[in-house]
Amino acid sequence: MPVLDIDEVNSALYNYIPKLQQCRNLVDLHSGLLLPQLTKAIRKAIKHVKKCPLCCQKRFVCEICQSPSVIYPFQLDETFQCKDCKALYHKRCRRSAGCPKCKRLEKRKHLFDDSSLVGTHT
Ligand SMILES: [Zn+2]
Ligand SMILES: [Zn+2]
Ligand SMILES: [Zn+2]
Repeated sequence: MPVLDIDEVNSALYNYIPKLQQCRNLVDLHSGLLLPQLTKAIRKAIKHVKKCPLCCQKRFVCEICQSPSVIYPFQLDETFQCKDCKALYHKRCRRSAGCPKCKRLEKRKHLFDDSSLVGTHT
């Protein structure tokens, strides 16, 4: 059984977490044997991401609740990602009203449209 060296995959770690999670789900289905090891690896990977300046850039703040605690796309159980703008929110914050970032982008687009109309006058 190969030993997973988290520090060795350091830079790729961020993208690696979803794979580990997938792995864990598969293992879950078959046997519980690898589970503690994988869970440990995932926990270690997440710990790295939280303190690594590079990985930290990939964090999100939920715009709906404005909570100061950051969220990451690999927190599959707690988060939901907008398929259009890729913004990340808490699952519990998701509302039927839709994605605030998309709305903002849409609004800004209209502003740009207006100003370009004004611009054609000069
Ligand atoms: Zn990192
Ligand atoms: Zn939230
Ligand atoms: Zn969106």
